[in-house]
Amino acid sequence: MGATASLSTLYPYRRVPDQDADDARRHPVVIVGAGPVGLALGVDLVKRGVPVLILDKHDGVGEGSRAICFARHTLEIAHRLGCGQRMADKGVVWETGRVFHGEHPVFEFDLSPEGGYRMPAFVNLQQPYVEAYLVDAIREAAASGLPIEIRGCNRVTRLHAGADHVAINVQTPDGDYQIEADWLIACDGARSATRDLLGLGFEGRVFEDNFLIADVKMNAGFPAERRFWFEPVFGQGAQSALLHKQPDDIWRLDFQLGWDIDRQAELAEERVRERVDGMLGENVNYSLEWTSIYTFQCRRMEQFRQDRVLFAGDAAHQVSPFGARGANSGIQDADNLGWKLQLVIAALAPESLLDSYASERMLAADENIQASTRSTDFLTPKTTTSKMFRNAVLTLAKDHAFARPLVNSGRLSLPTSYDPASEKGANLSCIGVDALRAAGAPASTRPGAPCPDVQLSTTEFLIDRLGRDFTLLAIDTQVPDTFARHGISVSGLTLETRQDDSDTIRKRYLGTARSAVYLIRPDRHIVARWQAFDENAVTLALEIAIKGHCTTDTLSHEDTRSPTPEPDSGISARMPLVREPNLADGDGFYDELLAVHDGLGDEESQALNARLVLILSNHIGDRDVIREALKVAASTARQNPS
Ligand SMILES: Cc1cc2nc3c(=O)[nH]c(=O)nc-3n(C[C@H](O)[C@H](O)[C@H](O)COP(=O)(O)OP(=O)(O)OC[C@H]3O[C@@H](n4cnc5c(N)ncnc54)[C@H](O)[C@@H]3O)c2cc1C
Repeated sequence: MGATASLSTLYPYRRVPDQDADDARRHPVVIVGAGPVGLALGVDLVKRGVPVLILDKHDGVGEGSRAICFARHTLEIAHRLGCGQRMADKGVVWETGRVFHGEHPVFEFDLSPEGGYRMPAFVNLQQPYVEAYLVDAIREAAASGLPIEIRGCNRVTRLHAGADHVAINVQTPDGDYQIEADWLIACDGARSATRDLLGLGFEGRVFEDNFLIADVKMNAGFPAERRFWFEPVFGQGAQSALLHKQPDDIWRLDFQLGWDIDRQAELAEERVRERVDGMLGENVNYSLEWTSIYTFQCRRMEQFRQDRVLFAGDAAHQVSPFGARGANSGIQDADNLGWKLQLVIAALAPESLLDSYASERMLAADENIQASTRSTDFLTPKTTTSKMFRNAVLTLAKDHAFARPLVNSGRLSLPTSYDPASEKGANLSCIGVDALRAAGAPASTRPGAPCPDVQLSTTEFLIDRLGRDFTLLAIDTQVPDTFARHGISVSGLTLETRQDDSDTIRKRYLGTARSAVYLIRPDRHIVARWQAFDENAVTLALEIAIKGHCTTDTLSHEDTRSPTPEPDSGISARMPLVREPNLADGDGFYDELLAVHDGLGDEESQALNARLVLILSNHIGDRDVIREALKVAASTARQNPS
């Protein structure tokens, strides 16, 4: 149906010499799948000098309307791959959103209140554009002599994973042929054939809901902002609805239909138009470009590395579209894997570095799945009580700022910090101690975090100065221009806060520290930071970064631990729940508590209680105290439910 739905041929089938070879030819890296993740990884690897072969069972952009929201971090990665600016220029930039409950506005939000970034917080851009731009980047690389190739209509149908290679059977219009790969990267999507062929599981939660997508073309005066409705008054009973502007006058409308539906009836044009008219108003002229109904699951593979096979993108993990975490996190997988695979192939790092890929990206997948599951549970409360609390949050959010962060219509994709203090920290490729925190450096640039951009001049930003390699970033102190250890060269970059009128460098990288030195990985995550350059400390940090075995006791005794939240320590000894009488006028309080319910029905009273819990919990603020209060209340409820 229409423009966004058309299948466009980007890499038509061509017969290649491998098909006529007597023996299976060996390739250093074979990527299965030319979706956004496989393509991004292909570009990254070849720009790092690694020969890449990409196989896809189709010959271009897939049919259907999928990802539209691309986050700043993804745009920054794409910038390094050569197509970030194109994405930002073509995409519809949006930085504000509005949330409604029924017909009432609840609140507005601004994603990027502070400037100093080359890339916007989000753009809306149809996934086919992203794929086409990445294919262009591959064509440019190939035209300049770099060893990269995409083979369309090449379906992987059999695999054998050996000790030092993977044997691959490829099906084409001219019949089957065989090749071998030193490393095979499975980017073949949610129904990954690689996963199935290797007999690997994909466990997780299936959400029992259906979402109708209608991409419509119209000239409408709505602003380019995200609009989300809980329980909209329009939409023929839809439980939630979403509106997003895309390029080319296309708008994405999304309606939550519930589980028990007649899919065919819901996809009938007349029925779709009823819903669309309800949202847009009767007098708006539009054409329907694409309609579909999707359901989703939240799940991930138990392990992202199986010896010489690595999984990335939807093949490895799946989330709901709310929060735009699918393609965004998949492209971040590619960003994490590219430099590591190159170092391993070049024998500059041990294979254990690839285990850090798996650990770090499994950590990210867990974070994304948790965020996505929580959003879905907020959108679709499963019980009367959860709906009561959800609506209490929405009601309070209209007038009370404290309740707004609790409104969850999709927590938008953010890059994961690979916090070494987390329980999976042992396999991370960054350092477990933070030598700068005690000096007052911001927690947001702690080891493991992605480094934020900074505007350096009218035309130049920090991300422009960070290349494909490790960087030593010095602020108000000195580092060598280049520093080489273990065969790896690190580029020095010095910035001075006195030349930064906006004070962004200080805010993002120094805090109250006098000076700082950051060791930054090729994927722009921070390995370690110190107050000044120390050759031994940097050497050790680099060694940890390339071995992928983080330890938490490797730096000097002055170091302090990363300030990530400590694991749940149970009840706080600092401020326990008050168990002794504490109300000055107990009887008076009791009267007031009852009086406020006067004249209310049971449901209204329960809704009031839900709001009261939220207001008082926010006032208390201390999670341990609230947790203890919940525990006490819950145990009493079980003994005496009435
Ligand atoms: C309605 C909807 C809205 C979404 N919105 C967003 C959003 O706004 N933002 C966001 O970040 N994400 C969003 N997503 C998720 C996003 O579309 C996916 O996460 C993304 O496409 C995953 O990319 P991928 O490269 O891992 O896999 P895919 O895009 O699925 O690509 C897999 C590729 O592998 C190929 N392939 C499969 N099997 C074989 C085989 N045997 N041999 C060779 N090739 C094979 C396929 O042809 C395909 O080209 C949305 C998804 C949906 C459904």
